Amino acid sequence: MDGHKLGYKGNDVLQELEILTMNAKAAQERILRKILEKNHATEYLNKFMNGSADISAFKSQVPVVTYDVVQPYIARIAAGEQSSILCGEQIVELLRRYIRDLGEGKGMYLLFVKAETLTNAGIPVRSVLTSYYKSPHFLHRKHDLYNRYTSPDEVILCPDIPQSMYCQILCGLVERQHVVRLGAVFASAFLRSISFLQKHWRDLVNDIRIGQLNSNITNSTCRVAIQSFLALPNPEIADEIEAICSSGSWKGILGRLWPNVKYIEAVLTGTMAQYIPMLEFYSDGRIPLVCTMYASSESYFGVNLRPLCNPKDVSYTILPNMAYFEFIPLEDGLKLTEDNEVVEKDKLVSLVDVKVGCYYELVVTTFAGLYRYRVGDVLQVTGFYNRAPQFKFICRRNVVLSIDSDKTNEEDLHNSVTRAKKILESRNQHLLLEYTSCTDTSTVPGHYVLFWEIKSTHEHEGATPLDARLLESCCAAVEESLDYVYRRCRAHDRTVGPLEIRLVEAGAFDALMDLLVSHGSSINQYKTPRCIESGPALKLLNSKVVASFSSPRDPEWTV
Ligand code: AMP
Repeated sequence: MDGHKLGYKGNDVLQELEILTMNAKAAQERILRKILEKNHATEYLNKFMNGSADISAFKSQVPVVTYDVVQPYIARIAAGEQSSILCGEQIVELLRRYIRDLGEGKGMYLLFVKAETLTNAGIPVRSVLTSYYKSPHFLHRKHDLYNRYTSPDEVILCPDIPQSMYCQILCGLVERQHVVRLGAVFASAFLRSISFLQKHWRDLVNDIRIGQLNSNITNSTCRVAIQSFLALPNPEIADEIEAICSSGSWKGILGRLWPNVKYIEAVLTGTMAQYIPMLEFYSDGRIPLVCTMYASSESYFGVNLRPLCNPKDVSYTILPNMAYFEFIPLEDGLKLTEDNEVVEKDKLVSLVDVKVGCYYELVVTTFAGLYRYRVGDVLQVTGFYNRAPQFKFICRRNVVLSIDSDKTNEEDLHNSVTRAKKILESRNQHLLLEYTSCTDTSTVPGHYVLFWEIKSTHEHEGATPLDARLLESCCAAVEESLDYVYRRCRAHDRTVGPLEIRLVEAGAFDALMDLLVSHGSSINQYKTPRCIESGPALKLLNSKVVASFSSPRDPEWTV
């Protein structure tokens, strides 16, 4: 391991990691054999393997699939059929931590549950973390020095996010001298909490001063759970926090509010990298940003064995006992395979055979009913830890916009814009000529932005006045057509702000093309990019904005 390592705790876990990574190939074979033993009789696998549990039958017969293929099985299970048509067992979690002198302190980890629904057959549909926080695994965790959080479990489980956030921050403030770690699962949630603090610190200070929770917190479980934190009036802590929060800039505020903090932990790779500058602002670049894990609803994937490295250099070591991993090599660097393109089975590369420097798309086979399933993540091999490869997270295939757990691909974006375009063009006064998009994280929460160039169809009669209501309904129409997770983030979790349409002046998209061609795009093959991340192209479009409109209402989010 590397020189950054400050200390060593949880030696058993690390020893296990050594053994696992040294024997990655055997671990992978073992896990595939177990998955097949448990699942070969499922309707899904039986269709391809005729009841065999043989690894070679799996390798030669089972196709590589995307969600579309699995979805009908999930729909059947949701409607009440036996889950054994697809799957066997639950996936286990593996957690680890290391940094010196954390033992005495607590972590202010801002953790939230998301809304959940039930299928017609009564099966809960919820995010993996919500399921984890509600599980005995979390609620009855054996308390040790490394999982002492300032937030009481009852508050984490409060479904009302603002009330939960208020109470979690309050606990963290009361315990500010004991807090040695700050964090959330994703950087977006952490920043949202800091912005919430910026808005509500006066109320928080007041509650701490008088030792009483204000009446806006109505959730009775939260009120009870918070009692011990506010047992007595605490004017000294209130004065300290007030002095810090009211003294000008919030640059570096985290180190002032939590003077003993040793690091901030959150996912900071992939789309979360967009939040690094804001975290550096609030920490004044003085608190290490730590990104430890790479995981998903499908499976846990890997851990970062150099937690103190720069977030831009994070690589994850895939844990070979979490699932059976295979990889689609991406030829020509990053040329991605389309969703509907058949991936030849003999093209798949196994975990231990990937090559340093090459790009791959991740394919998993899990205990829980996914067989050769394309997760959608593109990874690059950076090296090996023992025999287990390490990967840099490059991007999510096809995702163009993401603020929180929402992931919008180009097709979804196009379909929603097409729906809004119908509204825009319904009065025969305007045409949508071109569009592109970006995320704007200068607002908290961040939001989607569409750049639209529209043309009046009545130019000879003078410019048609812009109808703000019409454009606002276009914003709403785009949001209504985006997927369930987007709408839930927007309307329930409030992790995404109202979508904005920025109208750009005539010729703006021609100027964009000129710019991109001057930077090397081929003019013959030029296609307007449907998302622009940053840099001169974004600057150019923003300089041509003539008006902007935002969604006036929340989209419907129930399924
Ligand atoms: P979900 O299934 O909604 O939990 O999302 C899982 C997806 O989030 C993964 O497939 C990745 O695309 C992304 N993700 C999770 N962890 C990380 C990470 N450490 N870095 C970058 N992206 C991540």
